[in-house]
Amino acid sequence: MTDDDTSFLDVEGRGVMSRAAFQLHSFAIVNSFQEGTPGFVSDDYLSSISAETSVAALELETIGMWERREGGYFVKDDATVSMLINHNERMEALAAECERRGFHSPVGDPAGWMTCEECSIPTQRPDGGPVALPDGGRLGPDLRQAQTPDYDNDTTSS
Ligand SMILES: [Zn+2]
Repeated sequence: MTDDDTSFLDVEGRGVMSRAAFQLHSFAIVNSFQEGTPGFVSDDYLSSISAETSVAALELETIGMWERREGGYFVKDDATVSMLINHNERMEALAAECERRGFHSPVGDPAGWMTCEECSIPTQRPDGGPVALPDGGRLGPDLRQAQTPDYDNDTTSS
């Protein structure tokens, strides 16, 4: 992995785009799901990330991956968006099933990563990051955040 934003990638089925555009595209799609607007990238999101995004956004618009709308962009990458929607629905259903049962089924390395083999939620992370709540519950808080000082960074508005 390099930080060379000037290199270009030939993304299968999506044409050639710069590394910066591909990264913005990927992160923005994932974020759009977290925001509850799958496939819509808001201007608020774009201005909230510290990196310069207007060039990459313009590039994505030019090659037809993004389409300008009021307040943001619609992602025209239907394959990726629908794949993520399906994936999220499957994960939601499986997570609900674990909640109903009241337990997860962790598999993995007892000294490292453990994930539920039903819903793929982490039940143990080697870095102490967020894990499933007990009794089959959803992902709990990231306890590491309570330990790191807040640098008054208003770009993380989660
Ligand atoms: Zn589970």
